[in-house]
Amino acid sequence: MCADMQTAPNLMPIPGHVDPVPVPRPEPASADGRRSLVGLTRDQIRGELEGAGMEPKQAKLRAKQLWHWIYNRGATAFGTMTDIAKAQHPWLAERFTVDRPEVVEAQVSNDGTRKWLLRSTDGHDFEMVFIPDADRGTLCVSSQVGCTLNCRFCHTGTMRLVRNLTPGEIVGQVMLARDSLGEWPSQPEGRMLTNIVMMGMGEPLYNFDAVRDALAIVMDGDGLALSKRRITLSTSGVVPMMERAGKEIGVNLAVSLHAVTKDVRDEIVPINKKYGIEELLQACADYPGANNARRITFEYVMLKDKNDSDDDARELVRLIRKYKLPAKVNLIPFNPWPGAPYECSTPDRIRSFSNIVFEAGISAPVRTPRGRDIDAACGQLKTSAEKRSRAELDRLAEEKQAALG
Ligand code: SF4
Repeated sequence: MCADMQTAPNLMPIPGHVDPVPVPRPEPASADGRRSLVGLTRDQIRGELEGAGMEPKQAKLRAKQLWHWIYNRGATAFGTMTDIAKAQHPWLAERFTVDRPEVVEAQVSNDGTRKWLLRSTDGHDFEMVFIPDADRGTLCVSSQVGCTLNCRFCHTGTMRLVRNLTPGEIVGQVMLARDSLGEWPSQPEGRMLTNIVMMGMGEPLYNFDAVRDALAIVMDGDGLALSKRRITLSTSGVVPMMERAGKEIGVNLAVSLHAVTKDVRDEIVPINKKYGIEELLQACADYPGANNARRITFEYVMLKDKNDSDDDARELVRLIRKYKLPAKVNLIPFNPWPGAPYECSTPDRIRSFSNIVFEAGISAPVRTPRGRDIDAACGQLKTSAEKRSRAELDRLAEEKQAALG
């Protein structure tokens, strides 16, 4: 257990030989004590209404209406909910909110990538990134504030784990992106936000229940209505939770592989010391729902003279074949951050690696780095809160305001 974990409250055991991880706390109430309904299921909304004194039959009807307004129409205030009696709006607004996480900072890269620094009601900062492409738009969603896993190429891994995000904070990221893109109500056609990857800050399988519950709302046809085929959950290899992820969440799987030998993977992705490569690949072979139409993505960050030789590429092919994996490999040029212990492989090396994998009949595209100018690229998320205090951020906001005024 790492030093950060020793101080973490509310430890929950996860099946298998894995360290306990912090359980999500109940959704923190806003400063004025109102409860957010974002992230709640229909039954939970009904429970909240009844708990606040609403008569059960009415609570059932209102919960159905509220669900639709919150997740399908994207309502940000009770006053806009036209099929709920006007007289009831103040009653709801006094007790509940439909707030999203607060936006502390929003940045747009010169390649169109957007990054948001968000703040929870109890003052923790986390990030999400939107990556527009010609034929799709992908939202990279965070599951934790910080991370316990310390992958060595990853900037987030240098942060301590602060806490797990709640279902509301996870769904809230998707809703905020929809707000910003003007994509309400939920509709199947013509959206910019077409795909979601659970690949932001944190290890989603260490926050299993919250991620599952949030994605259930995202996939609900009368909720955010995104198909499970368009959602990918990325794990660094929490083997004991992978089967449950396939059965209970059912989205596409991506695995941060990044190395094919024990020594190198132990160094780059330290969870490998607990769940080795062979165990991980067997769990991939057993992942429910993986087939040639729904391949498992292996993420592979290209690190100069570390994991990028032709032999590494050949070993990768051997392993994929050995486990008969329906696989594709994403090659990610490393984005160095200040103090990073690695350099990016040369373009020639990356090409040679990609060719070997490709010639074996496995798709191995080289991912174009996106949002580098705003530190939004893969493995770079680390909140400015680590670098700037709240007071500094407030001062910067005041200065910005003064400059505009
Ligand atoms: S790559 Fe993912 S699991 Fe590894 S340290 Fe970074 S955020 Fe955590």
